[in-house]
Amino acid sequence: MSQRLNLTRIPCPGLKTKPEPGAKLGFGSLFTDFMFALDYTEGKGWHDARIEPYAPLELDPSCMTLHYGQTIFEGMKAYRGEDDSVRLFRPRLNFERMNVSAKRMGIPTLDVDLALQALEALIRQEADWVPGEPGTSLYIRPFIFATEGHLGVRVAKTYRFLIILSPSGAYYESGLDPVSIYIEDEYVRAVRGGTGFAKTAANYAVSLLSQIVAKERGYEQVLWLDGVERRYIEEVGSMNVFFVIDGEPVTPVLNGSILPGITRRSVLELLEHQGRPAREMRLAVDELMELARAGRVTEVFGTGTAAVISPVGRLSYGEESISFTYNPADSLAYQLYDDLTGIQYGHKPDELGWVHCVTPGRKPQTEGSL
Ligand SMILES: *Cc1c(COP(=O)(O)O)cnc(C)c1O
Repeated sequence: MSQRLNLTRIPCPGLKTKPEPGAKLGFGSLFTDFMFALDYTEGKGWHDARIEPYAPLELDPSCMTLHYGQTIFEGMKAYRGEDDSVRLFRPRLNFERMNVSAKRMGIPTLDVDLALQALEALIRQEADWVPGEPGTSLYIRPFIFATEGHLGVRVAKTYRFLIILSPSGAYYESGLDPVSIYIEDEYVRAVRGGTGFAKTAANYAVSLLSQIVAKERGYEQVLWLDGVERRYIEEVGSMNVFFVIDGEPVTPVLNGSILPGITRRSVLELLEHQGRPAREMRLAVDELMELARAGRVTEVFGTGTAAVISPVGRLSYGEESISFTYNPADSLAYQLYDDLTGIQYGHKPDELGWVHCVTPGRKPQTEGSL
């Protein structure tokens, strides 16, 4: 049974100046006027839903999150359609995944419908912050963290759920820009039984050192191998990974240490829908490199909310580095990017029912755009 959201709106003393249309937005440093907040207290459950001014938080120095890391997050986007509607892409999946992350971290779960109502209310209030230039979006960061001040190691008794919004620029300035990737063979990100499948801070904290090393060696991102044998391909920093091998799209099968991306799932479902199903399988890095050397790996690309699809131009493993040519005209990566962004922004039909409109369109779609 879904709960109804009982929402209080706390006014802002003054609103920020919104960026000029066409201004460079970047990513993750500009925030809207308001955020959604909801508290949890043991014995009482979630309470005090409110939309309040975006502002610094006051935390007890013994706040358990700062010491023991009991925190989880989600990442999604609101898109402005050609008809001016504000649209979300499969948002229930994000809140369902947030509950999976919550369970793993001993954090109380949250009714998915309630979370969705909260997000919709916040986005309606902040709709003018959704940028309209091609490729731009309003990045949405829901997160839950322990608020209790206490130094004993146990689950906290109080938590806060916040949703903050950040207008963000187009990921690609002109066309998909291939990334270079360093396959990490010393450190690992996650192991089965650990927290790899959860969107929780610890997974990112342990990944940063490898990112420094990768940068020093001239690579932009890190690809992780499994934590036990350090042989099976898992995923890239904040993207899942696909390969086209002998013409067939292939991705590592979810195994408990890979983050189950919603873009990954959408790519799999879209390919199935288009009659070109991908294969989910265990992929050994040595076998992959051998296939790549033989020219049988024609494409490598990452999938994630931020970039949608990110072609990989260079892959390094040990002493070896292999390059892949990215040619949009016959690239699966490009086709998937075009299809997914087409659905998200509304210039392609939403045959699979993935789009969730928050505010209706006010302008007609451009003729012939469907
Ligand atoms: C968020 C994330 C992804 C991509 O998930 P999407 O739902 O597609 O955005 C992949 N890997 C990691 C580690 C992530 O945190």
